[in-house]
Amino acid sequence: MKTIGLIGGMSWESTALYYAAINKEITKRKGGLHSAPILMHSVDFDPIAKMQAAHDWDGLGAAMVDSAQRLDRAGAQAIFLATNTMHNVAHRIEDSVDLPFVHIAEPTADALLADGIERVALLGTAFTMEMPFYVDRLKAKGLGVLVPEVDRTNLSGIIYNELCKGIIRDQSRLVYIDTINKLKARGAEAVILGCTEITMLISDDDSPIPTYDTTALHAGAAADFILS
Ligand code: GLU
Repeated sequence: MKTIGLIGGMSWESTALYYAAINKEITKRKGGLHSAPILMHSVDFDPIAKMQAAHDWDGLGAAMVDSAQRLDRAGAQAIFLATNTMHNVAHRIEDSVDLPFVHIAEPTADALLADGIERVALLGTAFTMEMPFYVDRLKAKGLGVLVPEVDRTNLSGIIYNELCKGIIRDQSRLVYIDTINKLKARGAEAVILGCTEITMLISDDDSPIPTYDTTALHAGAAADFILS
């Protein structure tokens, strides 16, 4: 099996989900006591979140380059970044190490296209919903993308103030469900859980349209690489 390098800690709640999901996938596919060869660099999220709020994308890029280079030196054979938002600096990672880098939007878009979805809603942090790096990547794959027209600050606040701290509130689930209903009314056939913590709050059982969980899809791509 190949060894992946996982950049995590943004938040550690999400990284723990990745760690479990990748290992479960390897055990499922290989059986026995098999588990995933993973090198992880898990950062301190507080200064990262402050740099995000300040739109210090140059500083964030430098932090991700540092993580990727540490994993490269440690022997990782590919880099996976366990967050959607930080893919805004994916190009910095790709430029800094000579290793495969699997962008989280790729397995996500591939799963949607395989299911014949044409118009998809995107939920995530305000950065992911409002900046072009994610939406444009999905559009380049041929998908129509809808983001919420209102409540974006509230949706993002739930991620940072609750989910990243492991806090799950029914009231917040209702905010997300209400938003998904509005996006469905605008023509969305499915919804991307485009923040790796949203899966802690929303599942297919809660949603009026099918959910595409970026954590599970990216973890599946990591398992594919490990077994390739
Ligand atoms: N994990 C979140 C995401 O997928 C947001 C927190 C972070 O910046 O990592 O976008």
